[in-house]
Amino acid sequence: MEVTEVRVFLRNKDSNKKLKAYVTVTFDNCFVVRDVKVIEGSKGLFVAMPSAKMKITCPACGHRNVVRSKYCNQCSANIENQQVKPVQTPEEARQTEHKDIAHPITPECREYIQKKVLESYDFEAAKAPGSEEYESAHSHDFID
Ligand SMILES: [Zn+2]
Repeated sequence: MEVTEVRVFLRNKDSNKKLKAYVTVTFDNCFVVRDVKVIEGSKGLFVAMPSAKMKITCPACGHRNVVRSKYCNQCSANIENQQVKPVQTPEEARQTEHKDIAHPITPECREYIQKKVLESYDFEAAKAPGSEEYESAHSHDFID
């Protein structure tokens, strides 16, 4: 399996937001995964696969509530004890509240996708207005 295209949609560079870009990844020219994200973490940039928030169903009315709600949003029943097992680590918390929609299942594949995505991200970020490379490329226009 090969990554055949990576499309990078940069977020506003001026903001201090941790989300740097949305990315669409194409595999073997025939399978597309959208909503991949480039995120600035404490140890540098990393790639997050698309995920969805987990929901729990209210036993009283059937309304689907966000995980870890105390009361049902629709009928206000107490749903605290409907929750899944107690959460221990931040990573467990993330997995309890989100489920991945599409993700690699081997470290090699995760590494490969991350490398491809970050290469494209670096390339696009360097071309974007406001970056050093962009400014030096365009400053030549004003030299006589
Ligand atoms: Zn309810």
